[in-house]
Amino acid sequence: MSGVAHKVVVVGGGIAGVSTVAALRAGGYDGSLTLVDAGGLPHDRPPLSKDYLAGRRGLEQIALQPPEWYDTQSVRLVTRARVTALRPASGQVELADGTELPADRVVLATGGSAARPPIPGARGSAVHVLRTVDDADRLREALPSARRVLVVGAGLIGAEVASTLAGLGCDVVLADPVARPLSAAVGPDLAAWLHDQHRARGIHTVAAGLATLTHTSSGVEAALVGEGRARVVDLVVLGVGMVSDTGLAEAAGLDVDRGVLVDAGQRTSNPAVLAVGDATRARADGTRVEHWDAARSDGECAAATLLGRPAPARPTPWFWSDRHGRHVEVVGRMADADHTVARGCFGDEPFAVFGLRGNLVVGAASVDDGLAARTARRLVAGAIPVDAAQLADPSTNLRRLLRGG
Ligand SMILES: Cc1cc2nc3c(=O)[nH]c(=O)nc-3n(C[C@H](O)[C@H](O)[C@H](O)COP(=O)(O)OP(=O)(O)OC[C@H]3O[C@@H](n4cnc5c(N)ncnc54)[C@H](O)[C@@H]3O)c2cc1C
Repeated sequence: MSGVAHKVVVVGGGIAGVSTVAALRAGGYDGSLTLVDAGGLPHDRPPLSKDYLAGRRGLEQIALQPPEWYDTQSVRLVTRARVTALRPASGQVELADGTELPADRVVLATGGSAARPPIPGARGSAVHVLRTVDDADRLREALPSARRVLVVGAGLIGAEVASTLAGLGCDVVLADPVARPLSAAVGPDLAAWLHDQHRARGIHTVAAGLATLTHTSSGVEAALVGEGRARVVDLVVLGVGMVSDTGLAEAAGLDVDRGVLVDAGQRTSNPAVLAVGDATRARADGTRVEHWDAARSDGECAAATLLGRPAPARPTPWFWSDRHGRHVEVVGRMADADHTVARGCFGDEPFAVFGLRGNLVVGAASVDDGLAARTARRLVAGAIPVDAAQLADPSTNLRRLLRGG
């Protein structure tokens, strides 16, 4: 299929899909534009493990856009509708109720679902995952009768859930076979410090994986690898990653390998279909990024491709995590650093750790230090050489470093 798009259907109303439609309209696309989602009004996902789970924000407060925005953007929003088939050859998308939507271009923004480990008992009623609003509601409803909680996986979502549930008064055990989770993203020292914060808040951390779950009348018996005796808890939350939703792409014959394979312009192996966000994996190097800002930026890139323009420059990778009242931001790729420099007093917020390769910043992680994170993004993007001693000195004006010293 070639030529200019006139009828675009975006499948999935997460940040990647909503960003795609917003960028299309902002870029001057004036053809028909339909956004289909299996859920209700498109909402944001990060609050589900934070303020939404804690009950501090409701559904209307986490909407990605207010309901009227879709009208003002001339976007036809079709909610509570599941796309069941893509028919790129005949220019159609089929919904579960049999409705066929005309589409000369489709953008797949289907995200993914929470992974469950293939172990006995992983699907019992007291075993929760957290990906959707329904998951979060189910977990919240179970909390009043649950005091003892096991969170499996201390990565981003597991750590946030453990923090939120401890804040709600639960006795939390946080199990992960990795002693210092997130080391690759934030460096080993900050990873150790972050993990210590769980213990400081009364969470019992265990360096062990989950072997089995047995459901009994007095709770769930959780056997952790290497422990002689099972732990009895009221509720288990699995935070062990996500699986891209690639079913539609596979059925339509697109190239899929643990994600819909896309090029730098978000094109799939079918020229009429693009894909964005957590559903995708880069064809060139196999990377998959499961963070909000990457999904948002994918949408902008897909819109540029649909408008026949070159892909915009990608922002420096960035994600955040909130736990125990602290805002953690991670920029670039700390794993590429050959040495690190701490700015401020390590462990005494605000502080940041910069990863350098030679005299170039390649990554950074900050705790309650937004200015350091924003500066790091620009230092990485601009490949601006820095003096390590100046970077470490909290009295150095970071904006001066952006000007090259
Ligand atoms: C609990 C939680 C907390 C997070 N916290 C952070 C954070 O603090 N910082 C950060 O950077 N990232 C965070 N993330 C990751 C971030 O939210 C994701 O990377 C981002 O939401 C991915 O967006 P997406 O649009 O690709 O997919 P999704 O948000 O998963 O959206 C996909 C949408 O597609 C719809 N869909 C799927 N199949 C169909 C179909 N066949 N028909 C119609 N609709 C369909 C789904 O209903 C869904 O609404 C978090 C994720 C979770 C789950």
